Amino acid sequence: MRTIAVLNQKGGVGKTTTVVNTAAALARKGMKVLVVDLDPQAHLTIHLGVESQAGGWGSYGVLTRSAELGESLVSVRDNLWLLGANTDLVGAESELVSVVGRETILREAIEPVKDDYDYLIIDCPPSLGLLTLNALAAVEEVFIPIQPHFLALQGFGKLLETVMLVSRRINPRLKVAGIVLCMYDTRVTLSSEVRADIDNFLAKAKGTDCPWSDACIVPVHIRRNIKLAEAPSYGKTIFEYEPNCHGASDYEGVASFLFGQKSDPQPDKQEQVAEASGESSA
Ligand code: ADP
Ligand code: MG
Repeated sequence: MRTIAVLNQKGGVGKTTTVVNTAAALARKGMKVLVVDLDPQAHLTIHLGVESQAGGWGSYGVLTRSAELGESLVSVRDNLWLLGANTDLVGAESELVSVVGRETILREAIEPVKDDYDYLIIDCPPSLGLLTLNALAAVEEVFIPIQPHFLALQGFGKLLETVMLVSRRINPRLKVAGIVLCMYDTRVTLSSEVRADIDNFLAKAKGTDCPWSDACIVPVHIRRNIKLAEAPSYGKTIFEYEPNCHGASDYEGVASFLFGQKSDPQPDKQEQVAEASGESSA
């Protein structure tokens, strides 16, 4: 099983949208995918059209060790399963404060099911607290969505520092695998400037032993697309809501990249398409 956390402590950068649609695209390729909602706002759960249950439900039940992971999953689509979230998660952090091994509860819970799925993808909350530590302890790969705007890289150092700490103390296999550029606007110079800044930063880490030394910018950028913003309120993935939009083809491309295939469309081709059509929201 490939294990991935989608992480950025900033809110609104495209984490949940990336988890939902990448997971859906992988499931459509026949991969068995388990997605985990670790955000008390439960956006992943809602986006998949699932109503949060009260009580020790979903990821809260698993983290407080009152439920087994296997019995807490909801089958949400063909090949796609969800460990949902509800607002109880807000309290998990303080409830677990005196529990020994509290950072590795999720990792232990996943252990018995790890041969049942091809991909585990965790949607992290917009913080670097205990919930995120549980995600980082449980996975081998981190993908960081970044919205390329002014101050896009603010907080990036803190994020990487957290990954470094977890890799040194709890999970030596942890790596930053990729940066996903979300809400990318091919017509705005700032987008390519931020991309160049990240490229430079990653180039400096090559050959070092830090956890992002092999990271790359995912070659398919997610263009700004209004359909991606509309789909969650219908509880639908982009492939159900509007399979013929840029959002669907971009996330299909990210999934293909993950799947190890050559990604298409390539960024250059994306730029030409956007320029030719004169818009970026179709
Ligand atoms: P996060 O999980 O990091 O808080 P979301 O995935 O919820 O971010 O995205 C923040 C908001 O932006 C949501 O309303 C979402 O629908 C919207 N959104 C995400 N990606 C795009 C995109 N490529 N184009 C347009 N809107 C997007
Ligand atoms: Mg989110």
